[in-house]
Amino acid sequence: MSLLQLQNVHAYYGAIEALKGISLTVNEGEIVTLIGSNGAGKSTTLKSICGQVKTQGAISFNGREIGSQPPHQTASEGIAHVPEGRRIFSRLTVKENLEMGAFSVKDKKLIKERTEQAFVYFPRLKERFGQLGGTMSGGEQQMLAIARALMMKPRILLLDEPSMGLAPIIVEQIFDIIQELNREGMTILLVEQNAYQALQIAHRGYVIQTGEIIMEGEANLLLSNDQVKEAYLA
Ligand code: ATP
Repeated sequence: MSLLQLQNVHAYYGAIEALKGISLTVNEGEIVTLIGSNGAGKSTTLKSICGQVKTQGAISFNGREIGSQPPHQTASEGIAHVPEGRRIFSRLTVKENLEMGAFSVKDKKLIKERTEQAFVYFPRLKERFGQLGGTMSGGEQQMLAIARALMMKPRILLLDEPSMGLAPIIVEQIFDIIQELNREGMTILLVEQNAYQALQIAHRGYVIQTGEIIMEGEANLLLSNDQVKEAYLA
């Protein structure tokens, strides 16, 4: 069943048209990746879904039109966005960062339960519980950013370049966790410049170029496609 659907979506920054009518679908339980080069419109796609940029066209989530909703509303409907560059609270501890992720949850017991659950995926964060976010490594900060997003128990996770600036071995760890989250039932839309690794863990993929989807298909087919290989996997 389709959980998220974009149909002919246009997005604008003033007079700049960053998305020129893109359509994509994410089904429940899938990892879908959106790959493309710098400035292609990947981040804008995620921002459009969460209501951070002005759009035209149809964006539906769980069968409801959400195209004109502000970010706090899309978040409360179950869309969690982990932005590019992580943006954790660097002067707050790991614990406080996680609590911020659950700001809309009033039940303290529930917050504790979700924190414990986050530690199952990210045991490293348990070790760093009282540490200030800003003093952790890039990989740990990325883990914290994802864990914080999970605190609201979303229906879909929108991940913006989780591999950015991380050493290959750390990228592998992060991608393993993304896959594990998906195996446990989380639906994921993964935006990446690191096309090779993204396509390896995704079920399906879309290729975006200057605001347009130029190709789509099963991830393994995209991985072996000559055009994709030449442009994005070289
Ligand atoms: P990157 O990996 O560099 O973030 P991207 O594929 O995510 O690339 P976007 O950030 O979505 O690309 O940018 C798409 C286009 O919109 C680019 O041409 C970019 O210059 C432009 N753009 C993005 N943000 C703004 C903004 N705040 N104001 C004006 N133009 C913007």
